[in-house]
Amino acid sequence: MNRRYALVTGGSRGIGAAICQRLARDGFYVFINYSSNEGRAREVLSQIEANGGAGELCGFDVSNSAQVEEKLGALAKSHGPLEVLVNNAGIAIDGLLVRLKDADLDRTLDVDLKGAIYCTREAAKQMMRARKGSIVQVSSVIGQMGNAGQAAYSAAKSGLIGFSKSVAKELAGRNVRVNVIAPGFIETEMTQGLTETQKQDYLRTIPLGVAGSADDVASMAAFLSSDQSRYVTGQVIGVNGGLYM
Ligand code: NAP
Repeated sequence: MNRRYALVTGGSRGIGAAICQRLARDGFYVFINYSSNEGRAREVLSQIEANGGAGELCGFDVSNSAQVEEKLGALAKSHGPLEVLVNNAGIAIDGLLVRLKDADLDRTLDVDLKGAIYCTREAAKQMMRARKGSIVQVSSVIGQMGNAGQAAYSAAKSGLIGFSKSVAKELAGRNVRVNVIAPGFIETEMTQGLTETQKQDYLRTIPLGVAGSADDVASMAAFLSSDQSRYVTGQVIGVNGGLYM
């Protein structure tokens, strides 16, 4: 069987889980990555299978370059090259710059930026050999416009944009595309911690007036993963209700 393989990092919850479901519906065999939440990842797989799709769990910490190299190498050996990589895994440790702890800065950059770089590097080797591939990075509107209290997170998310443009140029000759989704305010566990006042403040700044859903981001990821976007590379696409234009 000629399967098309997609790996989604942070596929156990929120936006990543919605992307896994959507790519499976579009016919991909989906590797569902998670770092600690195996139970939630297993639920995502069960839903995929219940809907007639296929995939498997693939736990590893994206910030551990040795693990990334080993896991992605093993997937290629046992199954074949990845056609799609979605770098969605992310954490947000918020706080004002003057109180920013080195450990929190390091962890944010390690997961949100270096994790995506490690996975992109390994997937790129497979995709270049296959002369086909699509890499989708999940950045953030905060990486485009900044936000008080999110200096480390925005550094990581803007870094991901610069990185992706460089890599898009490096890989284009081998028919490997690299694009960035910059979600705005999306309702997931990551945004559940906001107070009602903070949520209302956000909503007032969004022209469409509502928060987005994980499925809104998944639709864009599906487009960028498909041949419908065959002439799209090096782009940053906002899914933000107009919050940043
Ligand atoms: P979430 O609900 O908090 O889920 C985060 C996911 O990342 C989980 O699957 C988690 O796995 C995984 N993860 C965390 N650290 C990891 C690591 N070291 N290695 C592998 N996986 C790891 O977050 P979300 O709201 O869906 O956000 C997904 C992405 O969208 C993030 O990159 C985030 O920055 C970005 N984003 C979100 C929003 C928003 O409003 N929600 C807006 C803009 C951008 P476990 O379940 O195993 O912990």
